[in-house]
Amino acid sequence: MPHTKSTITEIVDNSFGIFDSYVGQSDPIEVGQSLLFKAGAELISNVFQHNESMRVVLHLPREAEEQTRHRIGIAETLSSSEFYLLARNNLGHVNHQSLGILPHLSKLRREYFVLLIGSGTAILLLSKAPAQSTKSWQTHFIASDHDVFKIINRIAVTLKTTRKKEKDLLVTLSHELNGEATTAQDNAYHNILNAFLTEIGKHLEPRNQRLENELRWTRTLNLIQSAVGWELDGSRLNNMIARVMKQSVGYDYLELQVLQQSEQTFKIVNSFQHNNTTFGGPLLTVILRPEKQEELLRNRKSVMLDSKNAEDWLMNPRLMPMMELESAALIPLIYQRRPNGLLKLFSRQPGHFADDEAARLEKIGRIIARSLENARIHALMHRMATMDGLTNVYNHRFFAEQLIREFKRAQRYKIRLSLLMLDIDFFKQYNDNNGHLQGDMVLSTIGKILKSNVREVDLVCRYGGEEFVVILPETEIAQAIVVAEKIRSAIEEFQFKFEQRQPNGKVTVSAGIAEGVEEIESATELINRADLALYRAKKLGRNRCEVY
Ligand code: GH3
Ligand code: MG
Ligand code: MG
Repeated sequence: MPHTKSTITEIVDNSFGIFDSYVGQSDPIEVGQSLLFKAGAELISNVFQHNESMRVVLHLPREAEEQTRHRIGIAETLSSSEFYLLARNNLGHVNHQSLGILPHLSKLRREYFVLLIGSGTAILLLSKAPAQSTKSWQTHFIASDHDVFKIINRIAVTLKTTRKKEKDLLVTLSHELNGEATTAQDNAYHNILNAFLTEIGKHLEPRNQRLENELRWTRTLNLIQSAVGWELDGSRLNNMIARVMKQSVGYDYLELQVLQQSEQTFKIVNSFQHNNTTFGGPLLTVILRPEKQEELLRNRKSVMLDSKNAEDWLMNPRLMPMMELESAALIPLIYQRRPNGLLKLFSRQPGHFADDEAARLEKIGRIIARSLENARIHALMHRMATMDGLTNVYNHRFFAEQLIREFKRAQRYKIRLSLLMLDIDFFKQYNDNNGHLQGDMVLSTIGKILKSNVREVDLVCRYGGEEFVVILPETEIAQAIVVAEKIRSAIEEFQFKFEQRQPNGKVTVSAGIAEGVEEIESATELINRADLALYRAKKLGRNRCEVY
C-alpha cells in the first residue's frame, strides 16, 4: 500500500467540513459530488509518489463548479472555460492522447496529467514545477494504478447518471466495486475505498436525515409563503393562514390576533378563530396574562405551553382542558422587528409543538406578519382612495363610479334607482360666525347622521364642500321621499353647537330628490334632476325636500 498522507478518516472528516457548509443551501447531489471528489482527489494524490510536488485540480461539470472548486481549495489554476476546453477535446478515457495536447496549458509552465472521467468531468494533476516528468506519472498511472482510475471513474459516472441521494449512491458504488474486486488484483485501493465508503456511510445517515428535514422545511416555508404572500383581502387571508398552518404545522384550535401598538400597549384590532375541536360551547378566546403577553411580544420569541405551565401564561387556563387541548404554541408575529400580531396554536396531543421548533415557528410568524401588514396597507389604501377623510362617507370619485354602476344595473334589471342631493342651509354664515373648524365639525356630524338614517345598501357620499348625495338602489320615488324627509328632520332636530346664530335658528339641510332609469338617458341626467330639485328647495325657503 502506498504511502498515505492522511488517513481515510481524516479525509472524510475534512470532506464533511465542506459538506456541512452546503447543507441547507445546495442540491444534495452536489453536496455528495463535492464530497466524493474531494476524497477522490486526496486518494489520487496519495496514490502517487509525487504527492509532495503535485496539485490535483478537479473539474465538476455543473454550474456550482466554480464555487465547489474554491471550497475544495486544492488548486485554482484553471478557469472554467479552460476546463471546458479540456473536457470537450478529451472525452473518454485516459490514454496517451489525452496527455499534454492542449497548447494553452503550457502557459501554466507546469507538467500536467489530465485524467478524464466521463463527459465534462476532469481531474488534472499538475506538478508544482516544470521539471517534473509527466511521463513517469503516466506510466505509473496506467501500469500500476489503473484501479484508482477505475474507482474514480465509477464514482464520477455513478454520480452523474444517478440522481439519488448520497446514501443510495454509496450503496450502488459499493455493489459495483465488490463486483470488481474479484477480477482486480488484490490491491490496497479497493480496501481504501471500501473503508472510505463505510466511513462515509456512518457519517451520512444522520446528515441525510438532517438534509431531508431541511428540505421538507424549505418546502413548507415556500408553501406558506406562496399561499399567504399574495392575499390582500383580510378575511380571505385569515382563512388561508388557518389552512396552511393546518397543513404544515397542524393544530386543533387556532387563534389569530392582529395587533396595533398604541403607545406602550397593544390593542387587538382583529381576531380570528378556527376550531377543529368537538368542544361545542360558545367560542371563547384564550386570554394571556397581560404581563405575559407583554413579555412575549417584547422578547419576540415563541413559547410552548403544556398542562403544567399553562397556568402561568393564561388568564383562563381551564379553557385548555375544557377543549381537551394538551399543548400550545404562542407565536409572536413580527414585522420589521415589531409585533403586529399573535398566533396561538393548540393541539390535543401533548408536546405537539416541540421546543426546538420555536425558531421555525418564528420564521413562519414573520411570513404571516408580513402578509398581515400587506393586507392592512391594502385596506388602508383602498379606504383612502374611496372615502372622504373629514366626513367618513364615500368621496366624489367613488360616488361617480358607483352611480354609473347602479344606473347600468338598474337599466339592465329594470329596477328603480333614486338619488338624493343635500346641501346645508346658510352654511357660509355658520362658518363666518363660528369659524371653519367648527364648520368642519358640523360636516362630520352630518356625515354620521346621514349614515345612520339609510340602509346598508345605500351609499352616502360627499359631493362637494357642504353638499352630500345618497344613492338609493332599488328605491322608488315614494320611498326616496320618506328617506329624504327622515334625514332632513333628523338634522333639524339635532342640536348643533352655536346653531341659534343661524338665520333660521337651526342648522338645516335642503334636499332634492330624483328617481328613474327608463326615461333617463344617463347617470349625469339623474344628478342634474336632483340638483334642479335641490335648487327649488332652496328657492322655496330651505329646510325642505323637493322632488324633480
Ligand atoms: P345656501 O343655503 O344657499 O346653501 O347657503 P350657503 O351659505 O350654504 O351656500 P354657499 O354656497 O354660499 O356657501 C357654501 C359654504 O360652505 C362656503 C364654504 O365656507 C362652506 N364650505 C364648503 N366646504 C367646506 C368645508 O370643507 N368645511 C367648512 N367648514 N366649510 C365648507
Ligand atoms: Mg352649496
Ligand atoms: Mg349651502
